[in-house]
Amino acid sequence: MRETLTYNDVLLVPQYSDIKSRSEVSISSRLGNIEMQIPIIASPMDTISEAAMGITMHDIGGVAIIHRYNTIEEQAAMVAEVYDQGQRTAGAAIGTSGDYLERAAGLVTSGAAVLCIDVAHGHHTLVKEALRSLRVTFGDKIHIMAGNVATLGGYNDLVDWGADSVRCNIGGGSICSTRIQTGHGMPGLQTIFDCAKSDRDVPIIADGGIRNSGDIVKALAAGADFVMLGSLLSGTDETPGDILNTRKGKFKAYRGMASKDAQIDWRGKTASLEGIATTVPYKGTVGDVLAELERGIRSGLSYSGARSIIELQAKAEFVRQTSSGQTESATHILNR
Ligand code: IMP
Repeated sequence: MRETLTYNDVLLVPQYSDIKSRSEVSISSRLGNIEMQIPIIASPMDTISEAAMGITMHDIGGVAIIHRYNTIEEQAAMVAEVYDQGQRTAGAAIGTSGDYLERAAGLVTSGAAVLCIDVAHGHHTLVKEALRSLRVTFGDKIHIMAGNVATLGGYNDLVDWGADSVRCNIGGGSICSTRIQTGHGMPGLQTIFDCAKSDRDVPIIADGGIRNSGDIVKALAAGADFVMLGSLLSGTDETPGDILNTRKGKFKAYRGMASKDAQIDWRGKTASLEGIATTVPYKGTVGDVLAELERGIRSGLSYSGARSIIELQAKAEFVRQTSSGQTESATHILNR
């Protein structure tokens, strides 16, 4: 059995740097033809990405994938709101069954530049069929993201089936219980290490389980072109839902799309429960959250002496840390 690693198991070795200011560092990344100023994509979840998140993510230099747990008209209207207001890059999720082609057509008509085939187990014949049908319908004019996969074989197949970018990681999300429910998954960073060995070359999106800017830097260094974030963006003004005022402070809802609450709301019944619903502290604007993450990512690149993500990937040297190393790496003065 081989050994696999995830974010906490590794550190990047600091390297000689001649970078004098974080502003010398570029963290731009390309999603096909689309140049993004930050390598961050907001998750297609009903407590993360609707029109407000789409607008702000674009304006800050990333993109949001509008979730698909709504009617075609509702989702298309959100996409249109993002795109009209200034021809922003709008992303939107679709499934692989039922009216997904009609949904895709409605989203593209409303201005979506990125369609995301959003299913839990992406290395699947239904994704192969969906990719084929979408290509027949839209040719190459739409960027098609697909996933999720946990393995190099999954990544390679999705690319060969026509995906323009691939969401990598199964079971690592903060609200995810897939590994508990099904016994399947792969430590998140390992999936990135594995997929980055591919001789195919479409963007790798490290999705789920990313808790701070340090994890983002590790994902990029391991070979990801983008990270996809749920929990880090949750609780912000731009997420759907009201602020909950409680005696313990302000909160907002955050939930997995395979949680009981989400399934009951959107399907009226439950299938396999592979997520949980929770609340998270209210965080203010997503702009402030992203600015802090961006500072951390730039600083991270500078510790590796890298002025770009490509340079980071070339220079990065990972080491494994023991559990004592993990304790030392966390702030630990209160543990004395
Ligand atoms: P987070 O950033 O760690 O909170 O993870 C967000 C990611 O979790 C999303 O982008 C999805 O890939 C994944 N996800 C969303 N809902 C569920 C769920 O109910 N079960 C498992 N994974 C989920």
